[in-house]
Amino acid sequence: MTTDTAAQAAYVVAALLFILSLAGLSQHRTSRSGVVWGIAGMVVALAATVGLASRSITATGLVLIAVATALGAGVGLWRARVVEMTGMPELIAIMHSLVGLAATFVGWNGYLDVDAELSGSLLGIHHAEVFIGVFIGAVTFTGSVVAYLKLSARINSRPLTLPGKHVLNIGALVAFVALTVAFVVRPNMGLLIAVTVIALALGAHLVASIGGGDMPVVVSMLNSYSGWAAAASGFLLANNLLIVTGALVGSSGAYLSYIMCKAMNRSFISVIAGGFGTPAAAADEGEQGEHREINAEETAELLGSATSVIITPGYGMAVAQAQYPVAELARKLRDRGVDVRFGIHPVAGRLPGHMNVLLAEANVPYDIVLEMDEINDDFAATSVVLVIGANDTVNPAATDNPSSPIAGMPVLHVWEASDVIVFKRSMAAGYAGVQNPLFFRENTQMLFGDARQRVEDILRSLDSLDAPVRELADTAR
Ligand code: NDP
Repeated sequence: MTTDTAAQAAYVVAALLFILSLAGLSQHRTSRSGVVWGIAGMVVALAATVGLASRSITATGLVLIAVATALGAGVGLWRARVVEMTGMPELIAIMHSLVGLAATFVGWNGYLDVDAELSGSLLGIHHAEVFIGVFIGAVTFTGSVVAYLKLSARINSRPLTLPGKHVLNIGALVAFVALTVAFVVRPNMGLLIAVTVIALALGAHLVASIGGGDMPVVVSMLNSYSGWAAAASGFLLANNLLIVTGALVGSSGAYLSYIMCKAMNRSFISVIAGGFGTPAAAADEGEQGEHREINAEETAELLGSATSVIITPGYGMAVAQAQYPVAELARKLRDRGVDVRFGIHPVAGRLPGHMNVLLAEANVPYDIVLEMDEINDDFAATSVVLVIGANDTVNPAATDNPSSPIAGMPVLHVWEASDVIVFKRSMAAGYAGVQNPLFFRENTQMLFGDARQRVEDILRSLDSLDAPVRELADTAR
């Protein structure tokens, strides 16, 4: 068997491993094995690619590859070990930016280093590949950098609304098509620089125009773009595995974006077109009346007399790392005979499945963790809802204020319960930057402070509530 045949066979194996990985990652019970399949696929892919390249590369080239691999692996391991769960989306965004940057460089290299054997229509196809690869890569690069800045709160998550923003986006796409034709007819560096600049500006503008509430879709959309950018590089480098892998990432990311748009009642086309067709975001309306406060002891008393409790966690639970005391609280209340369940919004937290992962980490049984659609009709018959660090995902404005930037997004109907306790540190708005009328409802009380500390306070108060009951029982014996 020649090196080439062996490498192509290894590529097929790697592609199959990547498909198994995607299948594993689609459910959290099998996600660990999904990651293992992915690692195995990548090891096979890297070994085969280096083996293939070693035929035409000098010893110095091989050393450079080894150094680059060690550096990349070192940085990857370090980031993966130190990243907080709440920092995952921005880490993912910055990783996507690197894929975009790499695709842009591969495209430029494809222009500067044209294969001497290419001629006629093949040369035309090559130049089209260069142009498309650079365009997708550069859009992905700046789009991901802006997403990183928004997700890490380094810039405001509000949508940028430049005058005529949709005309600018469409203009950039028209210019891209026209420049591609011109480049295929007469390739030159001026056109390549022009498309690079246009694509860099378009990527930044598309993502800057999208509001905080739609950022989950942006993250999965950039995931998709990074896949297509890698596939474009695969064509230029004549690497079949890169084409297949890029297409897998591109199509699975697009499908995830579609699912998330459906879950959030958003138009897929509108989000990928930088908020096309959505109303301009209304300003934060500020406080909307009086809010009432409650303390941990009073909350414990309320819980002590409740028959049913639903806990709706959000990003604040992740920030506070409150999942462990929250799991303990659920266990204690269940021991007292209270019906306790969790209601999970599909975009709660900062990445798909964020809350499910945290609750699984704290050993909350799967059967009391319900999706929004499974639990939304049950709030009306519930005694107490504990909103732990959630905000946008429990905002009634989404259902009753058509001018709200989050209008139409399905939310957890927590306000229908008899009592709602909101755990947060202040009256600040949620990620989408909109005030939450829930906080001013008659049946809502605010429990201010770090969610972890407040839940621990409640646990202590519950213990002291139980103490007299235990003493009475001991005396009776
Ligand atoms: P939000 O981000 O809307 O709100 C979180 C709340 O937690 C804040 O209001 C904050 O209030 C509170 N909080 C923060 N730290 C603490 C703490 N230590 N203790 C107590 N409270 C705390 O949360 P949701 O989960 O409801 O909504 C998620 C939002 O993120 C949605 O807009 C979604 O679109 C977006 N998003 C989701 C992604 C995903 O894939 N899931 C990805 C990207 C964005 P305060 O500061 O007053 O304490």
